[in-house]
Amino acid sequence: MSKLDAKIPEGPLADKWTNHKAKLHLVNPANRKKIDIIVVGTGLAGSSAASTLGELGYNVKVFCYQDSPRRAHSVAAQGGINAAKNYKNDNDSVYRLFYDMIKGGDYRAREANVYRAAEVSNLVIDHYTALGVPFARDYGGYIDNRSFGGVQVSRTFYAKGQTGQQCMIGAYSALSRQISKGTVTMYPRREMMDLVVIDGKARGIVVRNLITGEIERHSAHAVVLATGGYGTIYYLSTLALNSNGSAAWKAFKKGAYFANPSFVQIHPTSIPVLNDHQCKLTLMSESLRNDGRVWVPKQKGDTRKPNDIPEDERDYYLERRYPAFGNLVPRDVASRAAKERCDAGYGVGPTGLSVYLDFKDAINKKGRQVIEDSYGNLFDMYHKITGESPYETPMRIYPAGHYTMGGLWIDYNLMTTVPGLFAIGEANFSDHGANRLGASSLMQTSGDGYFILPYTIADYLADEIKTPKIATNLPQFDEAEKNARERINKFLSINGTETATSFHKRLGKIMWDYCGMVRNEEGLKKALTLINELKEEFWKNLKVPGTGEELNQELEKAGRVADFMELGKLLVYDALNRKESCGAHFREESQTDTGEAKRNDEQYSYVAAWEFNGDGNEPQLHKEELKFEFVKLQERSYK
Ligand SMILES: Cc1cc2nc3c(=O)[nH]c(=O)nc-3n(C[C@H](O)[C@H](O)[C@H](O)COP(=O)(O)OP(=O)(O)OC[C@H]3O[C@@H](n4cnc5c(N)ncnc54)[C@H](O)[C@@H]3O)c2cc1C
Repeated sequence: MSKLDAKIPEGPLADKWTNHKAKLHLVNPANRKKIDIIVVGTGLAGSSAASTLGELGYNVKVFCYQDSPRRAHSVAAQGGINAAKNYKNDNDSVYRLFYDMIKGGDYRAREANVYRAAEVSNLVIDHYTALGVPFARDYGGYIDNRSFGGVQVSRTFYAKGQTGQQCMIGAYSALSRQISKGTVTMYPRREMMDLVVIDGKARGIVVRNLITGEIERHSAHAVVLATGGYGTIYYLSTLALNSNGSAAWKAFKKGAYFANPSFVQIHPTSIPVLNDHQCKLTLMSESLRNDGRVWVPKQKGDTRKPNDIPEDERDYYLERRYPAFGNLVPRDVASRAAKERCDAGYGVGPTGLSVYLDFKDAINKKGRQVIEDSYGNLFDMYHKITGESPYETPMRIYPAGHYTMGGLWIDYNLMTTVPGLFAIGEANFSDHGANRLGASSLMQTSGDGYFILPYTIADYLADEIKTPKIATNLPQFDEAEKNARERINKFLSINGTETATSFHKRLGKIMWDYCGMVRNEEGLKKALTLINELKEEFWKNLKVPGTGEELNQELEKAGRVADFMELGKLLVYDALNRKESCGAHFREESQTDTGEAKRNDEQYSYVAAWEFNGDGNEPQLHKEELKFEFVKLQERSYK
């Protein structure tokens, strides 16, 4: 098939990681301080990796574009973090978590990686608890769990609707300890402009100081990208406005393959778009579907207030279509079902593009206080944004761009196709197949950073102990800095009339319309043409005020949007290539009689890993065949 080697260890599924770890090379503690490691990103992936590597004694440099590492996007995670503790005694296990993720991802993830993620999940919870994360407790004193979509057990650990924030506080305090010990040097307000590859190995990065505009060079024996996802390519998404795909894109252009770029999760429960001037959508956590019931009126175009619509005139369509999982079907299924109802004319609200998420029954049954204890902050957020109280009237929700399952291709050691370049957290592609299950990202990002990367990176670094400090005056650094400067100058010199944000908005609409929740061949081909036209216009008519020697957020934005134009095309190529539906990738041409995603395992049971082939050329596709030895491929059913 291709030269891709995922380096998956042989042997029984449950023994792979243990046996693999036993064979990994180590770096002796005395040698670690001679080794420099760059970590880009301070979300749960980057912070966990950096603090652990610092504690191990490596020289770590960490970068983020926020003013504080604690403001990385992980802080926004709401509903929870999964682990297979079986605290609820509901027959959960590592195997069941693994199986749920493989099935939830519609059989497009690697068995070995997913099993390992499930295996280390329990360590992650213990670790966060030790760091003081205040997970909710139940009456008996155990840490409490709730359910998330696509599963039939309760394995989601949570801290109200602010799990990401609480985990970030824990991870950040551990990182801060290393910073004060001097093992980690923190570089906030830096944006990675390029990856430096020397003799085929990742050896450093070039960054822009976002306050002064200065371009800096940083070298290392290995580089770790923990730069998050690229869901903001849709412009309107549940992500922070600054989230972007540029670091991964730069790595792609330097030889790192990009895997399954079109696997993007559209989350079913966002506050709907209210007007044309919005720049952001706000997520209402999936945890709400534990107690909230999703419905639309049975009558098309019903304009009555929700509380005036009697019970027998409501269509609880998820419970009707998917009795086994009900409101807790996976995200891709719930999103498409909402779209289907709205497209058929049953949507509610001023635009008709929303459905109800109703807590009336839960409040009647459990009492308002219980609901407030579980979701109080989410209800307050919803109330502030919409002016309506979910305690009194159902929420209105609609799907929105959210999470990217695609990302940099990595092998079992989390290393990309560029030796010495690792990718962890949402920036890599590996554990969620074609659809991520809720609360499994925090689990994966933290597992990667605390319990996997620190072992696998040592295996690579064991051969680097004799490599002296990498000089930053090498020609490869000169070249990277020159390119970064030229690009900045180009943005500033176009002097057109349209802002980067305006181009982003237009790109987002193309992506949403043709490469969003549903895709088809005709639309995808149209998207390619439209993106090419938009890109041309962008480079002729972009307006970036100010200079490069100051804080200039328009300039930052221009760089990110320029990369999104190219990344957007890669998403489209990938979606065009995969003529099957699987998970969140729904090709209209490939659906079952009941409108569910129809896979084609014979032809598409592979990871699509794309290689950069020069500017203006089509990327080259490599296929990593997915072998299923431990689960049987089946049609995914939640009925
Ligand atoms: C609203 C919302 C709620 C969510 N809720 C949950 C949940 O309840 N449970 C769950 O499991 N998942 C949830 N997710 C998903 C989860 O939060 C993310 O997938 C996860 O936090 C990503 O962590 P990360 O460390 O990989 O990246 P991030 O937290 O996104 O961090 C990226 C880091 O990279 C840095 N960076 C990026 N590019 C550059 C560059 N070029 N130069 C320098 N630095 C750079 C940033 O500064 C930042 O520090 C949610 C997502 C959203 C949007």
